Amino acid sequence: MRNNKFKSIFKTGIVALGCLTIISGCSSKTSTETNEKVKTSGEEKIHIVTTFYPMYEFTKNIAGDKAEVELLIPSSIEPHEWEPSPKDMEKINNAEVFVYNSQYMETWVPKVEEAINDSKKPLFVKASDGISLMEGIAEEEEGEEESHEHEDGHVMDPHVWLSPVLAQKEVDNITQALIKKDPENKEVYEKNSKDYIHQLQELDQQYHEGLDKFAGKEIITQHAAFGYLAKEYGLKQIPIAGLSPEEEPSPSRLAELKAFALDHNLHTIYFEELASPKVAQALASELDAKTKVLNTLEGLSKEDQAKGLNYIEEMTNNLKSLVETLSE
Ligand SMILES: [Zn+2]
Repeated sequence: MRNNKFKSIFKTGIVALGCLTIISGCSSKTSTETNEKVKTSGEEKIHIVTTFYPMYEFTKNIAGDKAEVELLIPSSIEPHEWEPSPKDMEKINNAEVFVYNSQYMETWVPKVEEAINDSKKPLFVKASDGISLMEGIAEEEEGEEESHEHEDGHVMDPHVWLSPVLAQKEVDNITQALIKKDPENKEVYEKNSKDYIHQLQELDQQYHEGLDKFAGKEIITQHAAFGYLAKEYGLKQIPIAGLSPEEEPSPSRLAELKAFALDHNLHTIYFEELASPKVAQALASELDAKTKVLNTLEGLSKEDQAKGLNYIEEMTNNLKSLVETLSE
């Protein structure tokens, strides 16, 4: 199935690129929704396309006013199942830098990279580069979190941005890429990066202060997004669905979860905003448990961003929710 998807992306990609070569500007720019930076006269800014919210947020913080940063996947859409249209392919092709998280999240990236045979190809930046990914562990009750280097055929957990420690590595990778592409602004990128990493370090410290006393406790989450966060702070994640929220748990899995929650005296089911909370809520009502939002940051609505919410704020809210419910 995945292969067919790839094939179709590949084809639309070729069409999109062909369109670019033959009739320049055959598809108009409609990126204003996500474009926040406008080119100021006299100053050439590099144009960066990022995939989903944390990639956008990290890059924006590093770039400051030196680059135009665009969000590719609309923030209201759950990015696990998203695929690029020909227009999206064109946006990527026109960028100078393209930032994504991992081929286990944006599974379409390797084929897109292959399809762009342009000499002006953007610099592809895998933000999770160098991070040792955990294998998907959705079905294991005890959540054995062995670390594996990825091999073909293995499904690895891409949710590294939800660990304030691994997020720092992603910020560092993006920073190095921006410096490589735009060495003139090296000092600005380094300073911005240092400031943002400092905020992430403070966030990490707050997590330790809030969660260290709950080491070993279990959290039942809607999908397996919080594995790295749980590992970092000694919690055990019990996901209802697998690595993608669209995976429906089997009735036997639900029965198992119910028994587990009763056995371990768990009173809260954590759900998320972008994916349908139907299953999480059904489980919660069967258990007479509370539901609480844990934001996966896989998207952050324009409204929330306009309210001043961002990665750091939402991660702080997640921490508050965890501390509050684990204390009960
Ligand atoms: Zn996810």
